[in-house]
Amino acid sequence: MTTSRTVLVTGGNRGIGFAIAEQFIALGHRVAVTARSGEGPVGSLTVRADVTDAASVDAAFTEVEAALGPVEILVANAGITKDTLLLRMTEEDFTSVVDTNLSGAFRVVKRASKGMLKARFGRIILVSSVVGLLGSAGQVNYSASKSGLVGLARSVTRELGSRGITANVIAPGFIETDMTAELPEAQQAEYKKAIPAGRFATAEEVAKVVTWLAGDDAGYISGAVIPVDGGLGMGH
Ligand code: NDP
Repeated sequence: MTTSRTVLVTGGNRGIGFAIAEQFIALGHRVAVTARSGEGPVGSLTVRADVTDAASVDAAFTEVEAALGPVEILVANAGITKDTLLLRMTEEDFTSVVDTNLSGAFRVVKRASKGMLKARFGRIILVSSVVGLLGSAGQVNYSASKSGLVGLARSVTRELGSRGITANVIAPGFIETDMTAELPEAQQAEYKKAIPAGRFATAEEVAKVVTWLAGDDAGYISGAVIPVDGGLGMGH
């Protein structure tokens, strides 16, 4: 039996974030999601937030705290891609992806850490990607933002680890969501050939690893990078 906690998942209106929120609800936690549009799953509280805006993040946390209590489990999941080859990549392509995926995680982690320090308990889970460590042609911006999350989690572990707070990274491979549906069929087939498991994963397969990491049994895991990639990134 896992202790019931207050959970906040960023970008919980679709894809992996939605599946993570559903999984936490199924386990009996109090769950809020941030969304710029749409709603989280049934049973969750949806609050509006854009992770590129610190004031919007602060307002969202204040709303969650008032309704469900201080956030004990934070899943920084919101992310975007703007893929193109290095020579074609504009400053805006690079900085906007880093601002959402990496600085966005910084903003929510910083805001969440206040309550976690007070409670002397916290679970921080950052949703990175296999390409954060493997690299990926056409994703200089995205890969850089995702490997930055590793340094973030490990530094938070060193700063806050003695206060009952863990910070970990999960590194999904290819997951069936809107993000991968955008890839051309031929490219999807090519990627599947490179994945030892021979298939993409479902969002639920990622969600179950996240809830386990946030649970009572994973309290001594911190600063780790947990792959959920069917073997794609082995050795990294
Ligand atoms: P989706 O594109 O399906 O969903 C992205 C989510 O992030 C949406 O909820 C979106 O909100 C939200 N979001 C984007 N920008 C912002 C912002 N500025 N402020 C607040 N929310 C924002 O993506 P996935 O579910 O596929 O991906 C979720 C995470 O998993 C991402 O971090 C992604 O990089 C990572 N990942 C995905 C993989 C995959 O194969 N799908 C593989 C590895 C990692 P809105 O609906 O309002 O746009």
